[in-house]
Amino acid sequence: MKYQRIKGTQDILPEAEPYWAHVTSTVQALARRFGFEQISTPMFENTALFARGVGEDTDIVSKEMYTWLDRGKDGEQGESLTLRPEFTAGVMRAYIENGFASRPQPQKLYSVGPIFRREKPQKGRYRQFHQFNAEIIGSDDPVADFEILLLTHTLYRELGFKNLVFQINSTGDPECKPRYVAALKQYLLPYADKLAPTDRDRLERNPLRVLDSKERETLPYLSGAPHIVDYLNDDCKKHFDEVLSYLSAVDIPYQINHRLVRGLDYYTKTVFELWGEGLGAQAALCGGGRYDGLIELLGGAPTPGVGFATGIERIIMSMQDQGIEPPALARPQVFVAYLNEAAKLVAVKLVTDLRNAGVGARIAFGGRSLKAQMKDADRTGCRFALIIGEDELKTNSVILRDLGKSEQASVPMADLQTWVTNLIDVRTTPPQEEQPESAAEEAK
Ligand code: AMP
Repeated sequence: MKYQRIKGTQDILPEAEPYWAHVTSTVQALARRFGFEQISTPMFENTALFARGVGEDTDIVSKEMYTWLDRGKDGEQGESLTLRPEFTAGVMRAYIENGFASRPQPQKLYSVGPIFRREKPQKGRYRQFHQFNAEIIGSDDPVADFEILLLTHTLYRELGFKNLVFQINSTGDPECKPRYVAALKQYLLPYADKLAPTDRDRLERNPLRVLDSKERETLPYLSGAPHIVDYLNDDCKKHFDEVLSYLSAVDIPYQINHRLVRGLDYYTKTVFELWGEGLGAQAALCGGGRYDGLIELLGGAPTPGVGFATGIERIIMSMQDQGIEPPALARPQVFVAYLNEAAKLVAVKLVTDLRNAGVGARIAFGGRSLKAQMKDADRTGCRFALIIGEDELKTNSVILRDLGKSEQASVPMADLQTWVTNLIDVRTTPPQEEQPESAAEEAK
């Protein structure tokens, strides 16, 4: 049998490492700069948590979850478990279960890790992918919404994205939202027969979701739909205006998008997506919003919250589409080669000393000729080779060869460390000229 990866999953190969390293380190550094702390929740939880927290009516819960019955005790059937299809529900569960309400509020928490959804695989749509997720729990201040928006914007800006514009809307609260939903339903009902079948269904069960429909038949009827901003109560309206005023104060562009409600049931007030240059609506970079009712829904005390999630694979794909290069990774610059078994023993000690001193170094494998070892040194991109031959063993020295210039010198072992560190900055990044332009710019 030939084993293959499961449809919709992917192997992240070493070629992609510079992207992954850059994006994940940027995300973490930024989250800390904004005062967020990391929380890592399990990759699977009780199915009921997601059914409740994400909403039975959503695509995620109704058709995309990886759910199974666990083994119970003594051969009995166990509980129903699910691989997390998003972070928020699990983070809220952890907030309640760990008594975070008694810590200083709000709690600013971020997470990074794999997410699982049984979606139809296509470009940029996987069944296992990774998200960066951030939540501010325990504050209804519009400045919390602003913090999430600013974090999102700063992340994409610092990664090199241009022309970023927020699409933003308010979905109201449990007091004003139902009034809007009723008005929307009333507006859409006369067109019910003309809507796409899935939207006809939604019109009955969750009319709000018809608004962000992508169905061709439905679209013509949405342009005349009432706007939720016209139905907001004073509290929601004031909240929305404040969020927008903070964005304006720091010159972050936004467009009010009356059709933006997002698929998940638990959103209240602010909802947003970030759109970037060259991307259609299909490929919104990321999205998020406020979910003041969620913790209560999951059994906690009423607690407001706001958050966002972005897909790491999507970020990387968009970087590649737009030709944004990550900085080159530091790779070992020193290759230790040896003539025979006695020299190999010295080489083993030498490579250990170099690494302990913080110098990236490789050692030759396979007991091959020096010529073959030099080829390996070239292939691995090392700039210097340290060669131990007969004479070097006798004189306790080593040949230091500059592979680029084909020059070499004999160096006493005792002086080697100084030589190596003087020759190249092997502790940190690769030489300046090898860095892509954007990274070199930033380094200035
Ligand atoms: P959502 O939780 O659906 O709002 O998704 C948040 C972000 O996760 C999206 O903006 C995408 O960047 C990413 N994402 C969602 N679904 C997928 C998927 N199937 N494959 C890859 N990335 C995804």
